[in-house]
Amino acid sequence: MISRDCPICAVPLEQETYEGFPLWRCPECQGTLLDLSRYEAIKNVPEKSLADLEAEAQAGFQGDNPQPIRCPRCRLAMAKRPLPVPGFEHLHFDLCRNCSFVWLDGGELALAQLAYQATPAFRDKQEMKRRAAERDADPERKAAFDEAVAKLPEPPGIFAGAFREALIDALFTYRGRYGTRL
Ligand SMILES: [Zn+2]
Ligand SMILES: [Zn+2]
Repeated sequence: MISRDCPICAVPLEQETYEGFPLWRCPECQGTLLDLSRYEAIKNVPEKSLADLEAEAQAGFQGDNPQPIRCPRCRLAMAKRPLPVPGFEHLHFDLCRNCSFVWLDGGELALAQLAYQATPAFRDKQEMKRRAAERDADPERKAAFDEAVAKLPEPPGIFAGAFREALIDALFTYRGRYGTRL
């Protein structure tokens, strides 16, 4: 593997699996390097409790680095973007416009997760998952759902399977809520 150094401490970054996704972390400043799409995906993982994320954010946070940094991957200058966390917009993450990797200072990844998981959009999704679990526990509803899935055309892409299920799930949820027929 190509060695990647922390853009702040210049020590080698260590690869780890975080919430099921690979990323690189600095053992000194706890900053993380990861692909932008994985950052978006990690925000959606509900595995850690809000209390755990809060503890992680507090433990890892050592201040926002205001200096321009270079992408540890392609060495080009990264662009600063405000962290999309309400109340913490003065913090930044760094984006490489060449390779789409992002650098988050220590604690900022947990902070971004924490903020996102507190939004109504995320809580709605969790509610949908709860309803899906309820549905799966009821053999009759589960059978009707599986039948509806089987009737749909083949998915065109790799994400379509999950998307298709989410779509049907949404339809069933609405049907349950309003008592209307599909
Ligand atoms: Zn570092
Ligand atoms: Zn890059």
